[in-house]
Formats: sequence, structure tokens, C-alpha cells
Amino acid sequence: MLTCIEVTELVTDYLEGRMSTEERLSFDKHVGLCRHCRAYLSQMRTTIGALGMMPPEPVPDHVMDELQERFAEWKK
Ligand SMILES: [Zn+2]
Repeated sequence: MLTCIEVTELVTDYLEGRMSTEERLSFDKHVGLCRHCRAYLSQMRTTIGALGMMPPEPVPDHVMDELQERFAEWKK
């Protein structure tokens, strides 16, 4: 199972179709189970659709904050 951080790192490959079937399946699985990554993915889709390219800052600060809060929860 991928971690949220891995999902944020792989999102470009995912959206550009540069993934193996296996990678894509584990990506889909994580996104299906994780509300945060689902929101992140749909945000990236919208951004890329609007700009026609990846934004210079791949992970917006508020998303990173959310992820970090979540990781902090897991460590408790
Ligand atoms: Zn996630």
C-alpha cells in the first residue's frame, strides 16, 4: 500500500499515464481509500487541465499541512 507522500510524488506520472499497471492499481487503491489523496488528485487534475501543465509547486502548502497533521495522528 502506498503512503500519502508517495501518492503526492507519483501524481504526475499517474496523470500523464507514465505508470505500470501494477503501480496504477496501488495508486487507485490508495486514492479510493484516502479522502485526502482523492481531494489532492482532483485538485491536480483541475490545475493541470486549467494550465495545460504541472504547476511549479507540486504540493500546495495547505495540502502538505493536512498530510502532516494526518501523519502526526498516525504516530500517536
Ligand atoms: Zn492518502
